[in-house]
Amino acid sequence: MSSHFIHYSRQSIDEEDIEAVVRVLRSDFLTQGPAIEQFEQGVARVAATPAAIAVSSATAGLHLACIAAGIASGDTVWTSAISFAASANCARYVGAHIDFVDVDTDTGNLCPQELAEKLAKASAAGTLPKALIVVHFSGRTCNMEAIYALKEQYGFSVIEDAAHAFGAFYPTGKPVGSDSRSLAVVFSFHPVKPITTGEGGAITTHDAQFAKKLRMLRTHGITRDPEQLEQANMPAWYYEQQLLGYNYRMTDIQAALGESQSKKIHRFNDARRQLATRYANILDGLPLLLPPADNHSSWHLYVVRLSAGTRLSRDDAFRKLRAENIGVNVHYMPIHLHPYYQRLGFSKGQFPKAEAFFDQALSLPLHQGLVLSDQDFVAQTLRDIL
Ligand SMILES: *Cc1c(COP(=O)(O)O)cnc(C)c1O
Repeated sequence: MSSHFIHYSRQSIDEEDIEAVVRVLRSDFLTQGPAIEQFEQGVARVAATPAAIAVSSATAGLHLACIAAGIASGDTVWTSAISFAASANCARYVGAHIDFVDVDTDTGNLCPQELAEKLAKASAAGTLPKALIVVHFSGRTCNMEAIYALKEQYGFSVIEDAAHAFGAFYPTGKPVGSDSRSLAVVFSFHPVKPITTGEGGAITTHDAQFAKKLRMLRTHGITRDPEQLEQANMPAWYYEQQLLGYNYRMTDIQAALGESQSKKIHRFNDARRQLATRYANILDGLPLLLPPADNHSSWHLYVVRLSAGTRLSRDDAFRKLRAENIGVNVHYMPIHLHPYYQRLGFSKGQFPKAEAFFDQALSLPLHQGLVLSDQDFVAQTLRDIL
C-alpha cells in the first residue's frame, strides 16, 4: 500500500502563485480590479483567440454561452453522452431540450458518424439542434473538421466544452480556442483541471458582439460603458441593466492565481504528455485497452479500459486499487444514466457505446506533479491484481 494517497489529479501551486495571490490581497481590489483583464489576456494568448471572458466556473461559462447563443425554451441542444453533467445541464438552465450523441469507444469522444446519422434523422423529423456542445474528453480534441462540415450542412452552432483541454491542440497544431467556426469555447480552472484558479472558468470567442454580451451577462446584464448605454448624455454614476444576467464574476484573487498558473500551462501539459507516454510503456502487456497516443492532447485524464475477459470487473479493480491508496476514478457515468436525466425520459441502452465505455473505464492517476515512483506503483499494483 502506498504511504500516501496518490491523487488521480491535483493542482500544482508554487511560491510564485502564492506571491501573486498575496499581492492582490494587499491591493485595493479583491474583485473587479485589474487582475481579471490580465488573466483574460493570458487565457486569450494560450487559446490564440481575440477575446476571453473570465467567469466563476466552467459551468457558469456554459450557461452564459447558451444564453448568449440565444438558446431558449423550445430549442434543442446536443452534447456527448460521455461527459460531466454540466455539459448537458447548461441547456436545461435555459429551458432547452437536451439530447446526446454516442461516442467512439477508443477515445470517449463524440463520434462524428453517429452525429451524421442522428442529424440526418433529425433533419427529416424537423428536430435539428440549435447548438452542439462538443466535449474534448480527457483533453483529446474531437474530430472538429468532421463536426464543422456537419455544422455547415445543418446550420447549428458549435460550443466547445474544453474543460479538460486548456493548452491542448487540434491535430493541425493550432490551440484549442483558435478556430472561429466555434461560437464559444469554455475552459475550467477547477483544481483537477490543467491549471487552476480554485474555482473558475473562461469563455473564449472570435465574435466581438458575442463577447460583449457575455461580459454583460457575467455581471447582472449591467453595463457602464458609455458606448453601450441606451440613454445618451447621462451623468457619470449612471449604469443600465439591459439583459437578465447573473453574478458569475471571478475574483481578482482567483485571476491572479490563474495568470500565474497560465504561464506554466505548456510545462504542465508537456509533463502529463510524457507521463502518458510512460504509462503506455509500463502498462504494456496488461489486459487493458490503453488510450491512443496523442501528442496534442492536454492529457487531463488517463482513462484505461479493462479488456473483455479480464478476471476483475472495473468495480473490483477500483476497490482493490483504492485499498492500496491509489486514487483511481471513473470518468464518466454517461449523463443520461443519472436519475435526473432518467426522469426526463432517457433510459439505459439508448447510447450503447457510451455505456460500454463507462462499464470498462478507469482513470489512473495523472497530473503534472505525479512522481515516477508513484506511477510505477500504480503499474505494479495493476500487474498484481489483473
Ligand atoms: C469540470 C467540468 C465542467 C465544469 O467545470 P467547473 O469549472 O467545475 O464548473 C464542465 N464540463 C466538463 C467536461 C468538466 O470536466
